[in-house]
Amino acid sequence: MIGCDSVNRYYALSTYFQKKYGKKYIKLSLDGGFSCPNRDGKLSHKGCIFCSGEGSGDFSGIVEKGQKVISDSLQNQAESQKQLLKTKWSNAHFIGYFQNYTNTYKPLEELGQIYDAALAIEGIEGIAISTRPDCILEAHIKLFKSKSVMWVELGLQTIHDARASWLRRYYDTDDFLFAYNRLKAADIPVVVHLILGIPGESKTDFLKTIDFMNTVKPFGIKLHMLNVLKGTDLGILYEDKPFDLLSESVYIDWVCDALEILDPEIVIHRLTGDGPKDLLLAPRWVLNKRSVLNGINKCLVTRNSYQGMRFNKDPKTEKVD
Ligand code: SF4
Repeated sequence: MIGCDSVNRYYALSTYFQKKYGKKYIKLSLDGGFSCPNRDGKLSHKGCIFCSGEGSGDFSGIVEKGQKVISDSLQNQAESQKQLLKTKWSNAHFIGYFQNYTNTYKPLEELGQIYDAALAIEGIEGIAISTRPDCILEAHIKLFKSKSVMWVELGLQTIHDARASWLRRYYDTDDFLFAYNRLKAADIPVVVHLILGIPGESKTDFLKTIDFMNTVKPFGIKLHMLNVLKGTDLGILYEDKPFDLLSESVYIDWVCDALEILDPEIVIHRLTGDGPKDLLLAPRWVLNKRSVLNGINKCLVTRNSYQGMRFNKDPKTEKVD
């Protein structure tokens, strides 16, 4: 059971940090004032159907007509989070996490300055960058290699292009693969974001996306339930005619199935996530992350299973029901 410990039956990010560096890292959410080509009109003005522009972490900027106005310097953003953390985690080390919007979507020179500003903050030992696969060029890879980039996060959500197009992702799975392979060839770890409960996707569809993860073998994955947020087009659809969403118990069941077939060396960066509380229309159970995580661990104990228990190195031969 690689990476499993007395707390988790999966390879949690905290376990990875302990094994690789022998210390605890905490991510500090940093807002570098980025936008996204799927919102500023380059590809579309609408954005992904579920996107409010806010990640599930802290959000310190203001959105005005698709442009971002930073309300605080990176230094101040980091310091305010460090203050909140210092009593509980006095020995923690930090990673600057560029999470909101598309964090490679600026001219290269400016990008280098933003990343450098984060790396200059006391206690920050590396940065993690969340972006779109179609916003990574060879020049970005060179830039990442010249900075302390610990990993790059790519939104994929699903490998099924028809559903991705319903989500208005505006790139297809081949575009993802192209960027992914570039990063992998340069030895830059990649974390892939996946969404459960996309309308029209069955458990079998979702597990095919997990099989695909086994084939490409990223450094890590992040899972979360589709959140329906007020003010998004998905929210408008839902308020007009509520559609079925996964219940907490079904979500837990899908996640446990995914963990069982997942390569045990892939690090789990997140198993549940929630949008801003005041914007979340449904499902409201995502707000109780502790309950979801406890439910996942309990389910794995009941099944007497763990990450990778049914991992098949040749996923094409694994039958998924
Ligand atoms: S790519 Fe990310 S930031 Fe851009 S619209 Fe989609 S979810 Fe929002």
